[in-house]
Amino acid sequence: MPRFVDTHTHVNFQPFLDDYRAVIQRATDQGILVTNVGTQWESSQRSVQIADELQGLVYATVGLHPLHLFKDITEEQTFGGITQTIKARAETFDPKRYQQLAQSSPRVVAIGECGLDYYHTDGLASEQQRVLRQHIELGIQLDLPLIIHCRDAGIHTDDTVQAFDDLAALLSDYKGKVRGTIHCYTGTPKYIERFLKLGFYIGFTGIVTFTSAKAVRASVQAVPLERLLLETDAPYLAPVPHRGQRNEPAYVQYVAQEVAQLKQIPLEQVAKQTTANAVELFRYR
Ligand SMILES: [Zn+2]
Repeated sequence: MPRFVDTHTHVNFQPFLDDYRAVIQRATDQGILVTNVGTQWESSQRSVQIADELQGLVYATVGLHPLHLFKDITEEQTFGGITQTIKARAETFDPKRYQQLAQSSPRVVAIGECGLDYYHTDGLASEQQRVLRQHIELGIQLDLPLIIHCRDAGIHTDDTVQAFDDLAALLSDYKGKVRGTIHCYTGTPKYIERFLKLGFYIGFTGIVTFTSAKAVRASVQAVPLERLLLETDAPYLAPVPHRGQRNEPAYVQYVAQEVAQLKQIPLEQVAKQTTANAVELFRYR
């Protein structure tokens, strides 16, 4: 059993092109297993390649992130004073092609990341929902869990967060059939109960170490440890004390430490239970 599982990372991305082996080795040396997440066709293919190359140290997922749906987007993302540039190229989701890729290796452990991103809807929220449903149906068909990205537009003035409302309603249509995780949870605590009832896990990144992220930190307390997953979302969102640097899977321990602190429980308990959760959901083989 690994000590920790980084259930969501992107060592398939450009910033790791030269040293992904060393980065994964650093995680392995600290007992950390890695789930490397695809976000469009090339990064999904590369995720599978890396998992096949470094067998047993890293697993793969395949899917189309909603930011890649409609147009070429360059976005400056600011989290607590740190700005990073995210580039996304447009792609049309082809379920057949992704199905073949998912079935090409036993090391593909999930479909995603897929989901809703209302930060960039351009009136096309329904198209995002349609493509999310295609991912869910693929996950059900292949008996693979879903890795779901969900982000709302900007700041909320009331306690309805539209993207999370829509996501919970959409997932309810597949209740009892779909399983997965809501990754990098940024909803308010109020939605958590709905996702838990649908059988979902909730993933937390280095954002939990940012003291300004009050809703996310409150959400950690609202998720029972039995349903909580650790992740880095590297290269983004490096936790304190590496904030602002390139993130990597080895830093998942800082997320674990903060979860232990927030829940006032021993770190070892967080390690054991979140690893058991990840193994249960992703069935690494
Ligand atoms: Zn991600």
